[in-house]
Amino acid sequence: MPERYELIRHIANGGMASVWCAEDRLLGRRVAIKLLAERFAHDQTAVRRFKREARTAARLSGHPNVVTIYDVGETATPDPDEPPRAFIVMEFLAGGTVADALRCGAVTQTEAIWWLHEVASALDYAHGRGVLHRDIKPANLLLDRDRSVHVADFGIAQLATEDTLTADGQLLGTAAYLAPERAIGRPATEASDRYSLAVMAFELLVGERPFTDQRFAVQARQHVDAPPPSPSERNPRLPGALDAVLARGMAKRPQDRFPTAHALAEAVETALAQPATSATTATAVLAAARSGTAARSGTAARGAAAPGAGARRARSRPRRPAPEPPHSTGRRAARRAPRRAIAVAALAAAAAGVALAAGATHNSSPNTAGSTAHAQRTVKHATPRPTAAKPKPKATQQTQTQASVTPAAATTTPPTADTLEAQGHALMDAGKYTSAIPVLRKAVTSASPASLTYAYALFDLGRSLRLSGDPRAAVPVLYKRLQIPNQTEVVRQELQLALRALGQQAQQQGGKGPGPAQGPGKDHHGHDGQNASGDLVTNQD
Ligand code: ATP
Repeated sequence: MPERYELIRHIANGGMASVWCAEDRLLGRRVAIKLLAERFAHDQTAVRRFKREARTAARLSGHPNVVTIYDVGETATPDPDEPPRAFIVMEFLAGGTVADALRCGAVTQTEAIWWLHEVASALDYAHGRGVLHRDIKPANLLLDRDRSVHVADFGIAQLATEDTLTADGQLLGTAAYLAPERAIGRPATEASDRYSLAVMAFELLVGERPFTDQRFAVQARQHVDAPPPSPSERNPRLPGALDAVLARGMAKRPQDRFPTAHALAEAVETALAQPATSATTATAVLAAARSGTAARSGTAARGAAAPGAGARRARSRPRRPAPEPPHSTGRRAARRAPRRAIAVAALAAAAAGVALAAGATHNSSPNTAGSTAHAQRTVKHATPRPTAAKPKPKATQQTQTQASVTPAAATTTPPTADTLEAQGHALMDAGKYTSAIPVLRKAVTSASPASLTYAYALFDLGRSLRLSGDPRAAVPVLYKRLQIPNQTEVVRQELQLALRALGQQAQQQGGKGPGPAQGPGKDHHGHDGQNASGDLVTNQD
């Protein structure tokens, strides 16, 4: 490896690469390094696939639930006969994978919902940017120390602008989560990723996968023509309302599924709020989900059409789960279907019931993925925008796309709150936090407290204050913003970052507590407090 990186310990071997925990000496941070296996060093397709993984993931790195890529490179080899090996440097995620959590039976329902929302948000974001993941499964969902999900492994992802990198008639993916259309050789679509998400939802909530046959071909066939089992029958603690929702999520025809991943996650959450065994409410839940999703899919489409808007697009989530004693989600631990990555030839044969050839089996062999105490959580941000986005004034749109921003004071007519907010936002986006702060302060004072502009300005002000190195000032601003019931989860995350930064500052200054600027222990809804380590905790969940 280049001098810059010091390998600390081996984490696991994937199908193509080994993953290492390492130290980035230059930036003094913990990272994960994925190193292409020696046997693939000469394999041009493998090298291309590996590099594509880095490219695809990097393209989505702006999203808080996608693994952030820091660097790519090649090993230097003193031996001219030894080919260099490609590597990817990414954020180190210390919490293992969702598959690990399932295996230990340590998933609560609240957490399952939370994860679904996080993955849904990442998926919709990726789809809005022309990226299909094509291998959504618990093993590809990494957890950080706060148990937030980061979608990983874009190794077989497909960019709308690039070829599929697979030979004709070859399918890459995992049988257990495979959408029916893919099993019969049709190309993957966004709906195929959402199908996999629905299968995962089933597994998280029921405690086992819908189809569990050990033979790949049989399992693929079941995805094609067996009706998905009823979650409430498999696990009577689940409400009957969930049956219809997951049946729609796993509908055989892609067009019958939810229009966005977010809509699926929302419908699951709504269904789970019903009492168990309320099968009669299933239709009502689905109808509610349908009407809700129509509006939301419109939002998603707008987000996808507006470059750069995705990271700031509204993402509503359930509240962060408070720590609660984990209970096993069911029989999952006892009955484990094989984890196989597959390369399948003769796809159309699946539909005809002909045996499918499975190959390229590989094992991930995690060592102790969740153990490094000093792992640093990489911070990624999303600026909340409204769910039902009102059209931005023209001036605002122009300002946001300009790299150099006209200061508000230079305009001849007094700038409106909208313009000020947009200017402040653009400055913040350009990394000019100290310049953004006075502009955003003006936006806050000139905007109506009932307006979304006020909410945006408060958020951007809090974030700019934190990023300028003044978390003490950021915290009360963000507490204020948290009182506005709009995208509170993103605000909560930002507030948590500010509280952490404040805690770190206090430690550096001699272990003093963060002081009174941290704001109230609870917000006006009575949800939040701060624990000893400066983390924001929610009481309501
Ligand atoms: P393939 O790319 O062939 O599908 P895979 O999905 O089995 O392989 P990898 O992506 O190579 O696996 O990762 C293997 C394991 O390494 C993961 O299951 C996880 O335990 C660990 N891992 C991967 N990336 C990170 C990371 N950024 N931080 C911490 N651990 C990681």
